[in-house]
Amino acid sequence: MPKMNRRDMLKMSGLAAGTLAIGSALPGCNSDDNQSHSDPTQKNSMLADLPPYYPGTETLGKDEMRITFMGTTPIAMISQAAVSVFVELGNGDCFSFDLGTGSMIKYWAMKVNMDKIYKVFIAHLHADHMGDIPFVYGFGPSYGRLWPMYIWGPTRSGLTYTDPDNNTRGPFNDGTADYCAALQQMLIWHNESQSFEPTSLKDYKLPDFDTTHSTLTDGYDFVVKELPWKNTGKDANGVPNGDNVAYDYNGAKITHFPAVHTRQGSISYKLEWNGLSMIYIGDTLPSQYVIDQALPGVDVLIHEIVMSAANWITKMGITTDKYSQTIVDAAVAQSQSVQDSSHTPQKAYGYILQQIKEKGVAPRLAVGTHFQATDDTIKTAMSDIRTWYPKGDVIIASDTMVVNVTRTGVKVRRGVVSNYQWPIQVPNVSETNTPKYWMTDPQTGKPTAAPQAQLDPDALENYVIDSSKYNAK
Ligand SMILES: [Zn+2]
Repeated sequence: MPKMNRRDMLKMSGLAAGTLAIGSALPGCNSDDNQSHSDPTQKNSMLADLPPYYPGTETLGKDEMRITFMGTTPIAMISQAAVSVFVELGNGDCFSFDLGTGSMIKYWAMKVNMDKIYKVFIAHLHADHMGDIPFVYGFGPSYGRLWPMYIWGPTRSGLTYTDPDNNTRGPFNDGTADYCAALQQMLIWHNESQSFEPTSLKDYKLPDFDTTHSTLTDGYDFVVKELPWKNTGKDANGVPNGDNVAYDYNGAKITHFPAVHTRQGSISYKLEWNGLSMIYIGDTLPSQYVIDQALPGVDVLIHEIVMSAANWITKMGITTDKYSQTIVDAAVAQSQSVQDSSHTPQKAYGYILQQIKEKGVAPRLAVGTHFQATDDTIKTAMSDIRTWYPKGDVIIASDTMVVNVTRTGVKVRRGVVSNYQWPIQVPNVSETNTPKYWMTDPQTGKPTAAPQAQLDPDALENYVIDSSKYNAK
């Protein structure tokens, strides 16, 4: 693999202008830890060479949008979690698009607490897009979210089929509401056991976007808004009918449109606010929907890309020096079938960007994500994208990448994070409802949290070693 220096990489990315911030020497900053390697499979120079962003140190401008990549690959690894994009607006709103496995670690690393993760828009119900919902839902009340989790996502697939053995399957209970209901059941033990802590606020006021669920006010409630996955905002004759609005409050509007991914019931999102816009494409085959949605002009287009099947299986360690040609061929064929049913090859993303540019206005920043980003893979991805789209800003996302968008500029930086960052949790001093498991403190006479109220005194509690014993020295 030919070596590529950082300047070449930036030139290729179209982001060469401005400061070259060579990796800082701060210990424990994982954006930089791997940069001493010379092996292009073990580092990400594109990310490392971005200027630094220090989480928690900047107030967002009132006209500004900040997009933080909390997860950027379907295969969770130390450097990249499964997909999640966190968007903050200058009006105080914030939204999560997907919440894949491992992404919560990055939210905490970027100093975003769970009380900011309660408006979640799911592209589809693959685990790399929703795997961390159980954790964020289950522990939300323990980390300051004393109100429901609001989930937007696709309606049921509506799929019915007869297999070759003549078994008819479907229709399936496979919509977003089904997922949330099943998750609530799955987490009964968790939620009950944590209910020695408050889970709701006494004076909770339903937010403006919660128009139909006035009885749901607890941290262990889900409020689900299902989005008909076929809707595009236009009727059969192409006349706008507004049937794809997911959210329209406080000046922020989020619409959805179909994604063509594995099984019907996948969608993508577009966020518009204050003259700024962002499109988030979870997973899809190369699709005309994307071009149509981006044509009026979009500030940031975030789109999945996938490397070639041959590269994919090489990364998986399936090579002819270790395996027979038959096994390698089978692995390529399997990987190719996944791509052919579900994903956008790198070159196709370049083609889509070029189409958008030719027919409308190029995105101010195009982002490739859902992609394992190292120097070697970024090099081939950029080369493929540039085949069709030689100019225009393109970057490959990695975790902690931050994009600030205003009408006058788009700024891309890398988060400087500690591998040892704890959650920042400021206690909520609002009055809360009484938790389920509490007792009266004999000293003060006031109610106090009582986790031990869930332990049978005879079977379990009597076996607890008294602290006076181990504190004796
Ligand atoms: Zn995915």
